[in-house]
Amino acid sequence: MQSGPAAPGMCARCGGPNPPQSSFCQFCGSPLTGPLRFVPPIPSPVPPDQFRLVATNRDEHEGPGVALLVVGILLIVVGLILFAVAAVVHQGIQSFNNDCSQNPTCTPQSDPSGAITGAAVGVLILGVILTIVGVSVFRGA
Ligand SMILES: [Zn+2]
Repeated sequence: MQSGPAAPGMCARCGGPNPPQSSFCQFCGSPLTGPLRFVPPIPSPVPPDQFRLVATNRDEHEGPGVALLVVGILLIVVGLILFAVAAVVHQGIQSFNNDCSQNPTCTPQSDPSGAITGAAVGVLILGVILTIVGVSVFRGA
């Protein structure tokens, strides 16, 4: 094979013939002036496959786990608020009906606090379940 300095216009990288006045190879684009230089390949920061694997792991564990945890805690808070609302409604209805019993034209109100308390219990149980599931998913169980 040919050794020594490359012929004028001959690309030192790919060996392609170029016009003598060219400063860049018309085949591979490398500079034709000066000695052959090593052009390091541009390193890609993160291999795409590895990046996708990391992203998938986050999606499968942390994302839904945190979401379940947040929803569960929110439901627990809503359940506690419903308990408080039920207690306030119960007191209000009781005092209204006490006054009402003194008044013959007044009809006593039914007390909805039992239904509200039932809803509060349901929401609380759902919230606790979601929180437990969220914690176990978050820990990668
Ligand atoms: Zn070339």
